[in-house]
Amino acid sequence: MGKPKIVILGAGYGGLMTVTRLQKQISKAEAEIVLINKDDYHYETTWLHEASAGTLHHDRVRYPIKNVLNGNKVKFIQGEVVRVKKDENKVVLKNDGEVAYDYLVMALGSNAETFGIEGLKDYTFSITDVSAAQRIREHIERQFATYRSEKVKDDSRLAIVVGGAGFTGIEFLGELVNRIPQLCKEYGIPREKVRIVSVESNPVVLPQFDRELVDYALSYLESKGVEFHIGTAVKKATREGVWVGKKGEEPYEINAGTVIWSAGVRGNAVIDASGFENVRGRVKVNPDLTVPGYENIFMIGDCAMIINKAINRPYPPTAQIAMQHGEVCARNLVKKIRGEQELEAFVFNDKGTVCSLGEDNAIGIVFGKKLKGTSASFMKKVVDDRALFLIGGPRLVLKKGKFNFI
Ligand code: FAD
Ligand code: NAD
Repeated sequence: MGKPKIVILGAGYGGLMTVTRLQKQISKAEAEIVLINKDDYHYETTWLHEASAGTLHHDRVRYPIKNVLNGNKVKFIQGEVVRVKKDENKVVLKNDGEVAYDYLVMALGSNAETFGIEGLKDYTFSITDVSAAQRIREHIERQFATYRSEKVKDDSRLAIVVGGAGFTGIEFLGELVNRIPQLCKEYGIPREKVRIVSVESNPVVLPQFDRELVDYALSYLESKGVEFHIGTAVKKATREGVWVGKKGEEPYEINAGTVIWSAGVRGNAVIDASGFENVRGRVKVNPDLTVPGYENIFMIGDCAMIINKAINRPYPPTAQIAMQHGEVCARNLVKKIRGEQELEAFVFNDKGTVCSLGEDNAIGIVFGKKLKGTSASFMKKVVDDRALFLIGGPRLVLKKGKFNFI
């Protein structure tokens, strides 16, 4: 038998962490490694709210995948995965046929969760990848340009509704409150003409943080002009905006030229298309990150579900956990290839969470310590650069890092 073939799907946090560890840990003679990703670049998903608002150029959030691969050990295929034939050990690519594997790592990230709400797919944007971020930035700018040139002014064209005030929604609002004054200046539009509305169905925003931090974030955003509709769900999206409402009350309409849908994620559609048993697109994995019934398939990152036994709920899908999955997945692949029976069980090491509120403000809990303002914002940049460091070392941090070394 020839050497085993390991195929990794997705070059995000989980996929790149797996492949960069694997290329260090095994020799060329031991296994063939193939990485498949739809683009030839990796993007920092955790920076996409900045590119979407236009506070950071989209080229700053991406870098060529080949920059972090050892071309002697890893073959890269640019292609879009359509599904996995899990009982035939094959990956089906759009337009490019099939790729066979002995071991598979699925790290395809997530898609926006729409909960079947009418109109969302047609009339809203979600912050999902670099192209989406570019489209959002351009759409908002186009609304400003059109408003400036139209004879009969329609103020609702300038309104931006953000559906869902979880981490993504709040981080996007934090960027928006910095970007809108710039756009107003550029297009000669008074700031008070622009409505920024956050709609959140839960009566509590960011329940992961304590009240003091949440109040700080909300009053900061309010002071910058964000209008919060808390305990209010988006019910429907239309060409004119959204219909929203509190439980048991009549829905009302908010007219808006831009609606951003940031109300949660589900595992990549490839999971469903491949027939994996899942909950909202996430596969409940074994402790060693393999898929029940398929011990040659590892599922990691946003596609994987692991229960936090302390609270009996799944860990939320984050870059932090995806990268830790990648490290364990690489070590377990090495063990499998070397014929070791006992695999490592994944244990999450929670280093904390920081939610940014624009360039120089944030809230967070890091190693159990509460932070807000510039100290939290500094930590967010440290976290962002750490991800670059873990995947591409100091060279990548110097090139793409948040601290502007060059
Ligand atoms: P991803 O990093 O999303 O990578 C998936 C890869 O698969 C991508 O390269 C994609 O192009 C590729 N792909 C997808 N579909 C296909 C296909 N069909 N064929 C081929 N390739 C495909 N988490 C944190 O821990 N901290 C944060 O500060 C943070 N901030 C965030 C900010 C925003 C705006 C968003 C949206 C998310 C944030 N998250 C954060 C969550 C975090 O980004 C995700 O949990 C993380 O990216 C998941 O990693 P992953 O490897 O599973 O997927
Ligand atoms: P989320 O699930 O964290 O938040 C979604 C929010 O949308 C929730 O507050 C929910 O109540 C609300 N919502 C749901 N349906 C709604 C409706 N019909 N109308 C109005 N509101 C509605 O999702 P997210 O913010 O997209 O984040 C996805 C994942 O990425 C999470 O695991 C999150 O922790 C992670 N993330 C982390 C960071 C960070 O650490 N800084 C930043 C962004 C995202």
